[in-house]
Amino acid sequence: MKSGGAIPFRENAKRSLRDPDLRRAMRAAVGTFGSKRESAVQSLPGFEEYRERAAETKSKVIENLEEFVNLFREKARERGVVVHDAPDAETARKIVGDLFRERGVRLAVKSKSMVTEEIHLNEHLEKMGIEVLETDLGEYIVQLAKESPSHIIVPAIHRDRKQVAKLFSEKLGVPYTEDVEELTKVARRTLREKFLAADAGISGANFLIAQTGSVAIFTNEGNGRMVTTVPKLHVVVTSVEKVIPSLEDLALFSRLLPRSATGQVMSSYLSLITGPRREGEGTGAEEVHLVLLDNGRRDIARSDYRDILRCIRCGACMNVCPVYRVVGGHAYGSTYPGPMGIVLTSALQGLEKSHPIVDGSTLCGACAEVCPVKIPLVDLILALRREKVRRGLTPALERAGMRAFGKAASVPQIFSAYQQYAHSIWPLAKIFGSPAGKKFPRPERKSFVKRVRDAGED
Ligand code: SF4
Repeated sequence: MKSGGAIPFRENAKRSLRDPDLRRAMRAAVGTFGSKRESAVQSLPGFEEYRERAAETKSKVIENLEEFVNLFREKARERGVVVHDAPDAETARKIVGDLFRERGVRLAVKSKSMVTEEIHLNEHLEKMGIEVLETDLGEYIVQLAKESPSHIIVPAIHRDRKQVAKLFSEKLGVPYTEDVEELTKVARRTLREKFLAADAGISGANFLIAQTGSVAIFTNEGNGRMVTTVPKLHVVVTSVEKVIPSLEDLALFSRLLPRSATGQVMSSYLSLITGPRREGEGTGAEEVHLVLLDNGRRDIARSDYRDILRCIRCGACMNVCPVYRVVGGHAYGSTYPGPMGIVLTSALQGLEKSHPIVDGSTLCGACAEVCPVKIPLVDLILALRREKVRRGLTPALERAGMRAFGKAASVPQIFSAYQQYAHSIWPLAKIFGSPAGKKFPRPERKSFVKRVRDAGED
């Protein structure tokens, strides 16, 4: 686990809470996803069984990671894919950079990939003088705004239509319009020219099929197909836990991923790329390279947090999380926000850096309820909180307060005395400026137990 400055989650969250535009955009977007997911799930009888099978499948892969990765690597190589192993982010960046330098790449088009965000690939390539253009509409918006994605499926979820209209007119010099179709047309026009001029395409992968050495990519905009087939060179940047055993398993995950992600029964496009273009084929890149990133994942597979590697990046846990829904993704200060982000960021970067975000959960359990691969997110977040306390990463005052409360709550006489007098002493908290006194409602005059007892005596 690496060290470094801790993520300023509280400060970030406070800033988000003061931003009415962000709150409005988040409310509108996540609400829609929730209801769409609900009806898509209802349309699939046996959804629970599918979740169970998906969780088992991913667990089997994580337990035997090397075996499945080796099988995938062997099959992909047989089909002509050049597979590069990248133990860390720096190596992954160097592999792509060297490939582009050797082939004289000046312009690369890119479809959405969180792994490339994780390794900061764009910044690296741009420093080399290579233009990298995001072609997913949401990613294109955040790239124009010089921001990072705030959701793993909907990168520009924090921006409303008016903000996008202003951004397009400022950055692209087009007349201001809030018409979504017109805005999409503007983006499409700009991107089309770039697709045709690009020397390379960069994509991620949703799944890697060990049985066939194929890369599976789910998209809704068709840009994924252009990125992977129009330029001569296609580079897939992905991570080891994306491997699944077979095409049959892909059929299982294709029932779960679109439903959980966008509430669709199926994504608009599912591309299966099995090697470069062969003789007689009309489309496809002439050269396909695949960068297989570890960046700490093999360590996670051996740790108590291994279940997070089952994640298929659907984003459903974010859409239902009461904390994510108000603070948005940027508050987490990491590539991966929301409940899955709390766990994955901590496992990848270490608690020294991530410990403030482990408090960013109400532990309500909604995330674990919707997770299509049944990741016990609440248990994992609780385990992180325990580790945080054990390692002395909580503030001293909080530790002392919780210790005192723990002692008091475990002695019934002290606890009932507190219940009896809490109502009377609560105003003192306000006088002394305690945050608790400002935020929590005043305790009732009678405790719940006393009220039940009194009711019984009536
Ligand atoms: S943790 Fe589960 S719900 Fe959250 S993104 Fe991953 S698969 Fe989806």
